[in-house]
Amino acid sequence: MLVPNLGLSICKPIFFTFPVKDANLSSQSMKTLAQCDFDGTITEDDASFILLDIFARGDWRRLLRDYKERRISVGQFNTRAFALVKADKPAMLEAIKGRVKIRPDFHELVAYFSSRGFRLVIVSNGLDFYIKAILKEIGLENIEVHAAQTQFHPEGIKVQYIGPDGKQLDDGLKQAYIKLFLRQGYRVIYIGNGDSDIAPAKYAHQVFARGELLAYCKKNNLECKPFEDFNDVVRALEVL
Ligand SMILES: [Mg+2]
Repeated sequence: MLVPNLGLSICKPIFFTFPVKDANLSSQSMKTLAQCDFDGTITEDDASFILLDIFARGDWRRLLRDYKERRISVGQFNTRAFALVKADKPAMLEAIKGRVKIRPDFHELVAYFSSRGFRLVIVSNGLDFYIKAILKEIGLENIEVHAAQTQFHPEGIKVQYIGPDGKQLDDGLKQAYIKLFLRQGYRVIYIGNGDSDIAPAKYAHQVFARGELLAYCKKNNLECKPFEDFNDVVRALEVL
């Protein structure tokens, strides 16, 4: 099936395993959505790692190794790692206040998407409470966010992933959302950096990548556009 790309020559659609509705529509008539990761993509640092380093009472990095070596899912990693945290929400937000650096030109990207009528959605395996707090800190609290839902208990933080259908997921939050957006008829631009972005990026019409996602695309000869800051993304999309 040929799926129309965004009219760019920089990054043709990579392979598709999911049937895209309205594939025969011209690119001009298709609505566009950018699905964007948060930690390591919008931010330069991983806020959840900063929090775990400060608050986890236990060896959370052993769990990270298990995740990196694919012995546990990203959902299992976050669930088990944050269960080691006994701190409350105000203490955690205070600890990261001003410590998480936003990648340059993110405001420019948001303004650009708005000017083109593109919908921007953050889908993250990170925790909702700090993502929303960081976005509020930079004046962008109105961006749509789907992330791990967090409950604070004295015995530890409970992290849950709820998919677009309202059901709990162990893994695959990002894939569930991109499949939903494609079913809704969107052309999807994917922006990400990590291992957990590889599976969802395979469904996207355009991919902007850094980090592990970029390394995977290069190794597997999948087309994508590298970026250092969000001005790179805007400049690439401006030629549409
Ligand atoms: Mg990331």
